Amino acid sequence: EAPPPRPEYGTPIEVLNRVFGYDAFRDGQQEIIEHVANGGDALVLMPTGGGKSLCYQIPALVRKGVGVVISPLIALMQDQVDALQALGVRAGFLNSTQDFEERRVVEAQFLQGELDLLYLAPERLRVPATVELLDRGTVALFAIDEAHCVSQWGHDFRPDYLMLSHLHERWPDVPRIALTATATPATKQEIATRLKLTDARHFVASFDRPNIQYRIVPKTDAKKQLLHLLKTEHAGDAGIVYCLSRSSVEKTAEFLTANGIEAVPYHAGLDASVRAANQSRFLREDGLVVVATIAFGMGIDKPDVRFVAHLDLPKSVEGYYQETGRAGRDGLPSTAWLAYGLQDVVNLRKFIDAGEGDEQHRRRQSLHLDSMLALCETVECRRVQLLNYFGQPSEPCGNCDTCLSPPESWDGTIPAQKVLSTVVRLDRERRQKFGAGHIVDILVGKKNAKIIQFDHDSLSVFGVGSDLRDVEWRGVIRQLLAQGLLAVESNYGALVLTETSASVLRGDRRVMMRREPERAPAKAAAKSA
Ligand code: ADP
Ligand code: ZN
Repeated sequence: EAPPPRPEYGTPIEVLNRVFGYDAFRDGQQEIIEHVANGGDALVLMPTGGGKSLCYQIPALVRKGVGVVISPLIALMQDQVDALQALGVRAGFLNSTQDFEERRVVEAQFLQGELDLLYLAPERLRVPATVELLDRGTVALFAIDEAHCVSQWGHDFRPDYLMLSHLHERWPDVPRIALTATATPATKQEIATRLKLTDARHFVASFDRPNIQYRIVPKTDAKKQLLHLLKTEHAGDAGIVYCLSRSSVEKTAEFLTANGIEAVPYHAGLDASVRAANQSRFLREDGLVVVATIAFGMGIDKPDVRFVAHLDLPKSVEGYYQETGRAGRDGLPSTAWLAYGLQDVVNLRKFIDAGEGDEQHRRRQSLHLDSMLALCETVECRRVQLLNYFGQPSEPCGNCDTCLSPPESWDGTIPAQKVLSTVVRLDRERRQKFGAGHIVDILVGKKNAKIIQFDHDSLSVFGVGSDLRDVEWRGVIRQLLAQGLLAVESNYGALVLTETSASVLRGDRRVMMRREPERAPAKAAAKSA
């Protein structure tokens, strides 16, 4: 039979004060909590750090029975449960890391009404015994955390999430609350459909993080650029530096340490004990820098992270936004800084083409990358573009690099034609594939060994690009890739034309480009371009 309600928990505001020790609700929390506490279904979109957890924890404490939280973040469950227990909340979890005996203890607690919250990995619901267990106890609500994992179009799809649509059929009277920090309007719709949240109220918080200053700079020497940023603007600050590969994580951490900045590495290849030690140092100490792959940060709740730096291009705007969202949870000014270059685009395009998965999967990844590139190459406010992506129109923010020093846009049609003509000529040499570096060498007329070997100094395009410098040509090629006017061939990383290239070559299409304010090409060169 059902356990008696726990009167000591009281109303939502009382729980907030007494159990969690906070004075007031944050924007949006109270409405969500009251709606769910009264038995309503909810779909909650709130940015990272917005305070989603309380939105299901408090209703779970207010309602009779156990709040069942479905979460894919198995590695965090122990920490989450420890934190709740420290507040006097009776919490437990069930996932694949436990042995039979550990699970049995938690199951008994659940059945005897000795739990307020039960964290559950989604794959547990595949096991009939788990379903039977839930049937025998009293469930106060289902919270579906990281709900975007149900979206096949999203960046983080988990097949087990598809089963969560059955929750409603099996337990029609139990309210459900689905939460995510990464939903675009289309993803939101998909979540509602797939989880059968037909009658759910939608709560959409503002995704703006006004205290975060977004900056995206062209990559020259990423580590040196990072060092400059830290020395000039973030001396002694805690921050996270994201790199794509484990080896660049290690090298960057060593580089920072060698240059007098306390930094520790974090990636999945490190010993679990080293990872745990580095993570807990980051949480406890002031001013430590963690250099990490994206394996780091999920559920990390450190309020005074002053900067998040990306040394490589993230694969999607969702990922970028989630990672940068770890800065400035305390509301104080913080920096989101990204260095991105031509090689990033080449690498990611190659990676997508060569990657596993079907055609649809590749197209999806490609669209994600396109949105990320559009953000990098925009001449408009970064924040307007970001918020637009999440379906929230806004005005230029005055606190991003493009607002603070607006880049000019320039007509890059002629340089674009020069690049594309070079690609056309090289394409005739079937046996050999050439990358961006070689194309730049041809354009600026560099007689190096490879040029001479292939007799490329006799091409009509040899030296036609002496009006721009190497870096500027790389910028032109990067932007052509970003705009889909040039593509990367998957095997060799050679540059190839796309269906839209022809319109540029024919002169039917103008190509507008972004000029970086800090390294603008000489005026004369730009005019002749
Ligand atoms: P999210 O899951 O949306 O990323 P969390 O639920 O982890 O965010 O909350 C982020 C931080 O904000 C946590 O430290 C949490 O304790 C704190 N927090 C949430 N709600 C409040 C509140 N009403 N008052 C003060 N702090 C809050
Ligand atoms: Zn702006």
